[in-house]
Amino acid sequence: MISDEAVSQTAENEDGGVQATEEAARSGAREPGEADKGGPHAEADGHGQPDKSPRRTEEHRQPQRAEVSNYDIVSHWFKAAAERLDLRDDIAAVLRSSYREVQVQVPVRLRDGRIHVFSGYRVQHNGARGPYKGGIRYHPEVDLDEVRALAELMTWKTAIAGIPYGGAKGGVNVDPKKLEVEELQSVTRSFMDKVEKVLGPTRDIPAPDVGTDAQVMAWLMDEYGKLHGHTPACVTGKPISLEGSYGREAATGRGVVYMFREAAPQLDLSPSDSRFVVQGFGNVGSWAARIMEELGATMVGVSDASGAIRSEDGIDAGALVKHVRDGGKLPEFDGAEAIDPDDLLEIECEVFIPAALGGMLHKQNADRLRCRMVVEGANSPTTPAADEILEDNGIFVVPDVMANAGGVVVSYFEWVQNLQHFRWDEREVNERLGRIMRRAFREVSERARECSLPLRAAAYELGIERVVEASRTRGYIA
Ligand code: NAD
Repeated sequence: MISDEAVSQTAENEDGGVQATEEAARSGAREPGEADKGGPHAEADGHGQPDKSPRRTEEHRQPQRAEVSNYDIVSHWFKAAAERLDLRDDIAAVLRSSYREVQVQVPVRLRDGRIHVFSGYRVQHNGARGPYKGGIRYHPEVDLDEVRALAELMTWKTAIAGIPYGGAKGGVNVDPKKLEVEELQSVTRSFMDKVEKVLGPTRDIPAPDVGTDAQVMAWLMDEYGKLHGHTPACVTGKPISLEGSYGREAATGRGVVYMFREAAPQLDLSPSDSRFVVQGFGNVGSWAARIMEELGATMVGVSDASGAIRSEDGIDAGALVKHVRDGGKLPEFDGAEAIDPDDLLEIECEVFIPAALGGMLHKQNADRLRCRMVVEGANSPTTPAADEILEDNGIFVVPDVMANAGGVVVSYFEWVQNLQHFRWDEREVNERLGRIMRRAFREVSERARECSLPLRAAAYELGIERVVEASRTRGYIA
């Protein structure tokens, strides 16, 4: 068994690495020359046009990825857990719907001289356990339905991790890869101007998600500060130079690895003998890969939006980060074979880590997985039908709602440090993260054992019970 020290140790070298990777994330978001290809958010590809939300989930299905939407996925697990818990209908109705959904117009003049109108969202799902907390996503497919689903997931995630937050999420339907840095900054500041009234360190605290990074968080903090005075605790995932927390950038990936390490003994796996595959080599996937490698595991396949590669001899995650940061495409990485992204699923390995978008493991492809364990770094990567297939195939699943909580846990640490104007070193952050992730794994596993449930079902039950208890104690529900 690998000690905590070993997992934390990898972060000891991160001080420089954190900064470097923040840059990587920034450059990754706008690859050299890419912003100049075609017009910015040309009407032809539908970007920059107001979203037609609220949409029905039917219209938002992603046939190329999944038979159901992210919203359907979260609703499915909530409904099943609520039925098992015999939750009263009226209480279930309160917990199922969002407390507040804000949709705003984000008009920004881009370099073509025209005003482009994006749609921005902030959904606050439930605040019984504390201020709302959740990331902000920049992606052309963002709509109210998706943000709503992600906000609800945050409510259960913070409850399962036992940190004092409610659940929220935000997003803008913009493709950051198509914007110049100044344009991205304008979108970010405009969005903050429209939603700042519902945000704040005691109300709702955003963080990074797909398409956003520490730089975006810095702009959000600065814009909020213009209206309210310097308030670092209004947003987490900030750069180290602006009161960000050591360890935040790697936290979600590190949390995924902590979860793998806890689950491994149940399958008689040892990290050093494990082969793993990562789907989505962004923040979460690339950190999970680097930390898995530090434990001695071997990455035998990896993908991002540009393609996929495999190598039985192992793919050096650190070198791949550098390759991508330097503007290289993932499929062009030396020493690995470029493959069809669909074939990534069939690579034989011990651990498969989905770390891209929702619904990527679905009814049509889940049967192709050749792993023993799935640790969900992404939010809602597995549809309910796919989950059933994995269970039938004896694949152990550590679900998103606990496995990717590392980010929000270290966001919580960042908020605590900001409120105290104090900073912990990286070792302390990682040790505290390890303690919370282990506790969550233990509590969910105990419930799963007692009730003969898979981890996901047990985790939802635990999260819902905690939110119901807080709502009752506050007097929100009788
Ligand atoms: P990111 O934008 O840094 O990375 C996403 C990666 O997925 C990119 O490498 C992108 O190229 C890749 N990708 C996109 N489409 C793909 C496809 N079809 N096939 C393969 N790869 C594809 O985002 P991130 O912050 O790493 O988030 C990834 C997932 O983890 C999301 O589901 C997010 O909600 C979840 N998550 C993130 C955090 C966090 O702290 N960043 C916390 C919890 C959960």
